[in-house]
Amino acid sequence: MTGIGVGKEVLSYCTKCKLTLSHIIVSMKNDSTIGKVKCNTCEAVHAYKDPSKVKAKSKKAKSRKSSPGDSVADIWMQAINKSTAKSQDYSMKRKFLKGDIINHSKFGPGVVDKLIDNDKVQVIFRHNIRTLMHNKA
Ligand SMILES: [Zn+2]
Repeated sequence: MTGIGVGKEVLSYCTKCKLTLSHIIVSMKNDSTIGKVKCNTCEAVHAYKDPSKVKAKSKKAKSRKSSPGDSVADIWMQAINKSTAKSQDYSMKRKFLKGDIINHSKFGPGVVDKLIDNDKVQVIFRHNIRTLMHNKA
């Protein structure tokens, strides 16, 4: 006997109350899997959410939120997504423009952030921002 079934009380995360509360089981997916539950507090009917799983998830989401887009990886991701340029292999003989995607043999794909000089560009890579030579004939 699993002790769960329609009409039984169970602890579930409530999507409305945003808390782990006691719920009444409304439907079962099968003998051991809860389908829908009804919150004893707000009376909302929703899919059963295992409180232990929800906790782990919300913790992750929170730590992500606390540092919105300030890591190099985030800047890099945004720059890559924004750029419509074709990626080209890096060579210091090539001339790059702002927004170009560079395929660097060592650093991987990067996006040209700005032209520093006639022969230098600032490039955002996944792990850091680097100054590369270019336009060297
Ligand atoms: Zn509720």
